[in-house]
Amino acid sequence: KLASREFHPANTVVDVDGVKIGDGNVVVMAGPCAVESREQLLEAAKIVKAGGAQFLRGGAYKPRTSPYSFQGLENKGLEYLAEAREVTGLKVVTEVTEVEAVDAVAHYADILQIGARNMQNFRLLKEVGRCNKPVMLKRGLCATIDEWLNAAEYIMNEGNHNVILCERGIRTYETYTRNTLDMSAVAAVKHLSHLPIIVDPSHGTGKWRMVKPMSFAAIAAGADGLIIEVHPNPAKALSDGPQSLTPENYREVMRGVYKISDFM
Ligand code: PEP
Ligand code: MN
Repeated sequence: KLASREFHPANTVVDVDGVKIGDGNVVVMAGPCAVESREQLLEAAKIVKAGGAQFLRGGAYKPRTSPYSFQGLENKGLEYLAEAREVTGLKVVTEVTEVEAVDAVAHYADILQIGARNMQNFRLLKEVGRCNKPVMLKRGLCATIDEWLNAAEYIMNEGNHNVILCERGIRTYETYTRNTLDMSAVAAVKHLSHLPIIVDPSHGTGKWRMVKPMSFAAIAAGADGLIIEVHPNPAKALSDGPQSLTPENYREVMRGVYKISDFM
């Protein structure tokens, strides 16, 4: 299999216009859950840049559990992301939720995100497999590691080998946290596959207080990077406020991330 270490023993390094993922350095992607407005995104991007992250995250297409929740700004959101990249120099990672939007998202984004809810949307996987941008593939809510690696296989089989895996927590009987962040998946994926793997402690726990310890744990476990939700004012966020870091908390997490990655 294309994603397996047996097939390809050396670690894959995904080069996103000069920013390398999987080369031994920890990359950080940070930003709001959703692009809410031009002002919100530009403010978030400046905070993210100043804290040291290399990527700005933010959903323009949002896969919401309820149809009555904020659904995202779609194309307008993509334009704001491109403007924020222009202003800060950050690379942009954003989700694509439907086949019809792949071209538009690939036009604006540096990395296309496939969200947990679409991990087994095979038509979508094949479509991003045919585009020329790296893909960040989140683990499905109830997906085994084998199912997740097979989803990567769908993308790679179409010719796109620039796949980054993202552990974002799985559903278990535990309800205290939003999901159960499977840190052992990092070690398992490192053994089974040559693809880089990053960790999302925000969706993985659902609680901003747990983002710092789980970020540190992810780096210690060997993750190639982190994707973290940061909002200028989490109390006013249109989605995922409870798991979003304030600017101050984000700076504190980043200070620790630098220290721990120096040890690794
Ligand atoms: C996200 O990162 O914006 C997101 C919706 O996450 P997930 O697909 O992991 O739920
Ligand atoms: Mn979110």
